[in-house]
Amino acid sequence: MKSIVSKIQKYPHKPDTNPLNWGLVKPNLLLLANAFVDYCDKNKLPVKFTSIIRNGIKGVSVSKTHIEGRAFDCSIIGWDKDDIENCVEYFNMNYSKIGAIPFGGSTGLACVYEDGITKGSGAHLHFQVRMSL
Ligand SMILES: [Zn+2]
Repeated sequence: MKSIVSKIQKYPHKPDTNPLNWGLVKPNLLLLANAFVDYCDKNKLPVKFTSIIRNGIKGVSVSKTHIEGRAFDCSIIGWDKDDIENCVEYFNMNYSKIGAIPFGGSTGLACVYEDGITKGSGAHLHFQVRMSL
C-alpha cells in the first residue's frame, strides 16, 4: 500500500489538497485511485486531485464519504464529454463492488460526475468506496 501512496502522491494536486492525506484514506480508496491514475495515463488524460479528506464545516454540505476517507475528487479540466462518460462507465462497470452505495440505492457507485451546478462546486469527478469490514 505504501508504494501506491507514494505513486499517487506524485500526481498534481490542487494547492489546498494535501497529498499526505493519501496515507489516511481507506485501503479500497487507494486501490481505486491507483486504477484511476493508470486509466488516465493509458488514455492520456490529465490528473489533478482537488479533494481527498475534507472536514465537515458547519453549514456547508460535505459528503460523508470525504470526511471518512472514502472519497476523492478529480478535476475534469482538459477532459471532453466522451472522456468523462467513458471514465464513469469504466469505473462503475469494474469497481461497483467496492463503490459506495448511494442513499436509497442498491448498486455500488465508484465514480460519479458532479456537474457543479447541483452542489455549487466546480464540475468534477467524485470517486467513492463503501465501508468495508
Ligand atoms: Zn467528492
